[in-house]
Amino acid sequence: MADLLSIINPATEALIKEISVDDRAAVAEKYVRARQAQPAWSALPLADRIQPILRLRALLIERVDLLAALLTSEIGKPITQARSEILAVPGRIDFFVENAANVLAPERVYCEPAEARPGMGTLEEVIGYDPLGVIANISAWNYPYFVGGNVFIPALLLGNAVLYKPSEFATLTGGAIADLLHESGIPEDVFIPVIGLGLTGAALLDQPIDGVFFTGSYATGQKIAVASAPKLIRTQLELGGKDPAYVCADAAVAVAAAGLADGAFYNNGQSCCAIERIYVHTDVYDEFLEVFMATVQGFELGDPTDPQTYLGPVSRKPQLAVLADQVADALAKGATLRCGGERMDRPGWYFAPTVLTEVNHSMTVMQEETFGPVIGIQRVASDEEAVALMQDTPYGLTAAVYGTDRERAVGILSQLKTGSAYWNCCDRVSPRLPWSGRGHSGLGATLSVAGVSTFLNPRGWHLRVD
Ligand code: NAD
Repeated sequence: MADLLSIINPATEALIKEISVDDRAAVAEKYVRARQAQPAWSALPLADRIQPILRLRALLIERVDLLAALLTSEIGKPITQARSEILAVPGRIDFFVENAANVLAPERVYCEPAEARPGMGTLEEVIGYDPLGVIANISAWNYPYFVGGNVFIPALLLGNAVLYKPSEFATLTGGAIADLLHESGIPEDVFIPVIGLGLTGAALLDQPIDGVFFTGSYATGQKIAVASAPKLIRTQLELGGKDPAYVCADAAVAVAAAGLADGAFYNNGQSCCAIERIYVHTDVYDEFLEVFMATVQGFELGDPTDPQTYLGPVSRKPQLAVLADQVADALAKGATLRCGGERMDRPGWYFAPTVLTEVNHSMTVMQEETFGPVIGIQRVASDEEAVALMQDTPYGLTAAVYGTDRERAVGILSQLKTGSAYWNCCDRVSPRLPWSGRGHSGLGATLSVAGVSTFLNPRGWHLRVD
């Protein structure tokens, strides 16, 4: 009998459902189906692949209430934030659809005249683009529509078949996404959900796939890279971050504090690009802290199904211990606890929003991904000190600078190795810009034109035309 995966509601700890997990044989069978279906899918005119994606777009809007409620039930994301995530996907679909034809179009880059090589005739050089084939999309739970959609939507548009493994913590949503795609007209063998935990993901990687697009932690990302290396297939890794923000002496302090509190606590801090460390110039530190604390204390915490709720439970129970350990480590090393600091005394996996000051880089809270409602704020004396601290982790997903001088901010941000740089904003993703990480934050990019064409292989055509 297949193993069962228990889906638990993080807000109530109630069992929602038990679902059968795909074993190795089931994964292999799904792979064969995808492999057989892919050529016919890629042979369709692009317009025939765009149509179902546009139907998906419409269904996401039409069913947003139902889909958001499902997402909230299994990961505890506040309902307004679940709705926002789903309703932002149509904008991304528009970008992918607008760019699909461009990235697929063959380019005639050179024509060698017949007289150049007597007797050889005229030769055309054309760059063509082929879909990768069958790809695996192994996904995270925190933004299943975003991180999955950034992969499977352009991949499908460009003619690939997708084996989609949702996170075990967002399995119901993964199933709903598959149902929506099939209802929209994507053939059942062209997009196949693969259900299970890490073992199922590993079994998927054992198949002779043509690419793996992974979103998750650095620790798992390393395993994916090792498993895919002998296959020499396209491997993209969107991993964690320890994203810093720096508030300069000339910043609009109240705006910075409110923006950074949201950046740190939105989705309970469970965003890859959540603000995880804040450095504040000493000249504005006290004012910053006052507004920051007031903002955090104003956040509505409670039942994630209530539209007023801003902070719900954390999505995974083991994370409660990670958060408690980071707080204990910081306090043992001299940090000051401004609020929160522990699991809340109520049903559900609620951790009180936590602000730590007098922190330093000997503490795990300033070094390792927190992925929860805990933030450290450190006072700095200069831009140089801020730069040194901001680059003092192996991660490189995003960084933010708040200040009135654009040149100064860009100068600071340019010194950091990150995939995204924010001036007077943070925790933001755009379909038009590449989403990528440096160092332990990943490899390759999704979004932007580069993140669409990543689902294609270029081919050099040498065509003797007469
Ligand atoms: P995770 O690494 O625990 O799991 C991610 C996926 O990998 C899951 O589907 C899991 O089942 C699968 N998996 C686990 N072990 C595997 C193995 N050996 N082989 C194949 N698959 C395996 O991560 P998570 O907890 O789901 O997500 C949180 C992490 O994701 C955080 O670090 C966060 O920062 C990161 N993240 C990054 C981005 C980004 O765009 N850079 C976006 C969202 C989340």
